[in-house]
Amino acid sequence: MYWQKERMSFGSSRSLMADEGCSLCGKPPVARLFDPERRLCAEHFVEDCAARVKAGIMEAGLLALGDRIAVGLSGGKDSTLLLILLHGIVSSCTGVHLIAITVDEGIAGYREETVAAAVDLTTRLGIEHRIVSFSDLFGADLDVLLSDREAEACTVCGVLRRRALAVAAAEMGATHIATGHNLDDEAQSVLMNVLRGDLSKLLLDTSEGLPDCFIPRIKPLSVLSEKEITTYLLVSGAYTDLPECPYAGGALRGEVRGMLADLEFRYPGTRWRLIRSRDQVRNLLAEEVSQGVLQRCVHCGEVSSGELCSVCRVLGR
Ligand code: SF4
Repeated sequence: MYWQKERMSFGSSRSLMADEGCSLCGKPPVARLFDPERRLCAEHFVEDCAARVKAGIMEAGLLALGDRIAVGLSGGKDSTLLLILLHGIVSSCTGVHLIAITVDEGIAGYREETVAAAVDLTTRLGIEHRIVSFSDLFGADLDVLLSDREAEACTVCGVLRRRALAVAAAEMGATHIATGHNLDDEAQSVLMNVLRGDLSKLLLDTSEGLPDCFIPRIKPLSVLSEKEITTYLLVSGAYTDLPECPYAGGALRGEVRGMLADLEFRYPGTRWRLIRSRDQVRNLLAEEVSQGVLQRCVHCGEVSSGELCSVCRVLGR
């Protein structure tokens, strides 16, 4: 079961030297599981992560002939690993294409470095890459749009970024959009939506926003925790220390993150069970939720849950 895999500790080979070697090959382990049979060296840890991501993708029925997967590539660690893993998986599939889209929100002192990292990665991997900016799509950088509403930064940014990604993906002929949300992100979003009493977001996955277009979205990294992602990048030499967004750190998310980390430590598998519970409720209510909830925005014509879509609402249209 997945939660057993989550009961792990990480460290350098030196900090785990006292243990026996990797349970598969005997080399020094980099991740030690509470289950004594599951200590993994760097090579097997990387293989294990890639296999779990691939299994999730296959389960979602992807990798069919003609699939064109657009990866939302911010340049940060999650989307970097997502692109690396998908590149490895897709390169062995005939007729499946990978493309990358970077959304430049216009955040001074932060985005420049991550955009450069995204360009560098796609160039090295030989992947078609497009950069779209808030200023081109919405007429202003995020810094300008937030001039008197910094407290709403992540809400405004998230809504506009989803639209930007959807627009670029549609223009590039994508059949799927893949984003780098990890296990921690997903569990935090579930709990935040419950704490806010926001049932529609919980059921419609508006952590991703209402679907701005009909290109299905997938989150292949949601089987990996933040720790696993960082460990993977460190042991494979792909880790880059990049600046953090100056708007990051919303109060509720920060508290939820701490709470979940504590619960996960004491009750291993908490995050995974939260996500699974949400999925079960979604499946149970799928028919009701899909009936009559979505309509067209009266202003821009995009799919919306109300008269105005989320983008027109945050732009004050
Ligand atoms: Fe946007 Fe918030 Fe992420 Fe910064 S932390 S990039 S404002 S969503």
